[in-house]
Amino acid sequence: MIITDIKVTTFTYTSNTVQDTDGHTHPGDPHDATTALLTITTEDGTSGYTFGSPDALRPVMMDNFIKKVLMGQDAADRERLWQAMARWQRGSGGSFNDRSLGLAELALWDWFGRKIDMPVWKILGGMRDKVPAYGSTMCGDEIENGLATPEDYGRFAEWLINRGYSAIKLHTWMPPVSWAPSVKMDIAACAAVREAVGPDVPLMLDANHWYSRTEAFELGKGIQNLNYYWYEEMMDEHSMSSYVWLAENLDIPILGPEFVEGKFHSRAEWAIHGGADILRTGVMDVGGIGPSMKICHLAESLNMDCEIHGGGPGNLAVLGAFFNGRWYERGLLHPFVDYDQPPEYLNTIIDPMGPDGLIHMPTTPGLGEDINFNWIADHTISER
Ligand code: MG
Repeated sequence: MIITDIKVTTFTYTSNTVQDTDGHTHPGDPHDATTALLTITTEDGTSGYTFGSPDALRPVMMDNFIKKVLMGQDAADRERLWQAMARWQRGSGGSFNDRSLGLAELALWDWFGRKIDMPVWKILGGMRDKVPAYGSTMCGDEIENGLATPEDYGRFAEWLINRGYSAIKLHTWMPPVSWAPSVKMDIAACAAVREAVGPDVPLMLDANHWYSRTEAFELGKGIQNLNYYWYEEMMDEHSMSSYVWLAENLDIPILGPEFVEGKFHSRAEWAIHGGADILRTGVMDVGGIGPSMKICHLAESLNMDCEIHGGGPGNLAVLGAFFNGRWYERGLLHPFVDYDQPPEYLNTIIDPMGPDGLIHMPTTPGLGEDINFNWIADHTISER
C-alpha cells in the first residue's frame, strides 16, 4: 500500500501546565498552546496518526528526511523504512533526532493497525491486556500546598494510594527552585512518602539531577534504607562508568539509561557493563516502537526487567507486547492538575485507570487514540 500523502497539521488547544526555565513541567493558568498532528495516508485512503511537538515535525524534518524516505513507499514495510530513516540521522549532523524519527514510525504503526483493524499491542505480540500504573509526580515546586515540602509529597502520596495507584515515583526539586538540588531534601521527601504509604508500597526515585558520584551515593544510601524499589537518573548518563561505579556500591537497583543517545546499542552496552540493573526505553527516546521492542527483548535475554519511560499510546502498545517490565508510568501528576481530563483534541484519554490501579490496553485499531478531528479542524493554524 503506497504512501501518497504526508501532512503536518499545527493547531491550538488549552494547556493547564507551564514549563520552568529548566524545562520542567508545573501547573499553570489555562493558556493557549500549540501542538501538531502527523498524518500518513496511503493510496487506498487509509491514514495513520500521531501527535508531536511542532518543533519535532518542523518543515526541515519533514522535507529533508521523513517525506524523502517515506513518500511512494509501501507503508507496511515499517522496519525497512525505519532503517532507511535512521541512516539519514548520521548525515543530518544530529538535527534529525530520535524524537522526530519515532513520531514518523508511530504513525506507520497506527496506519498498519487501522489498515488490518487491530490494536498495535496485539500486532506486536499481545502479551497482556492490562498493566498496573505507578503515579509519577511532577518535579518539586514552591507552590503553597503543591509539592513544595516533604510534607506536601507525603500528603499527595496518600491521595495517590487512595486513587488506586499501586506504586509511586517521585521527581524531586531541581533548579530553578532556589535551594535545589539538595540531597538532604530529596531524602526528606522520600522519607515522608514512605511514612505516608507504609512499608509495602513500591516507591521509586527519579532524581533527574546531575549530581556528583558522592552526592548520588549519599542519596542512594538514603533511599535504599527506606526500601525504595529503583533509583533513576541521578547523574549525567553520558558517563556510563559513573553508573557502573554506583551500581557496584549500592544495593538498590539502578534503572537506566533514559536520555542517553544510541538507541538499543547504548542500552546493550549498559546492560553488558553493569551500568543498570533494570533497563530503560521509551518510544520518544530511542526512535519508536520497533527499537523499544528490541530493547525489551535484549533485557529479556539477560533476565533483566525493562521499564518504559513515560506514557502515551506508543509506550502503552509496547507494554502490552512484552512481559519483563512491571509498570505503566502515569503522569506527570500534581495536586493541582487533573490528569484524567483529556486535552480538547482528544475525546478520551488513552490511559484511563480504574480504582484497581490497572490500565487496560485499547481495543480500537491502531494506537487507539480517540482523536477529536472536529476540534483540530476548528483550531488549525497551518497545514503542510
Ligand atoms: Mg526519568
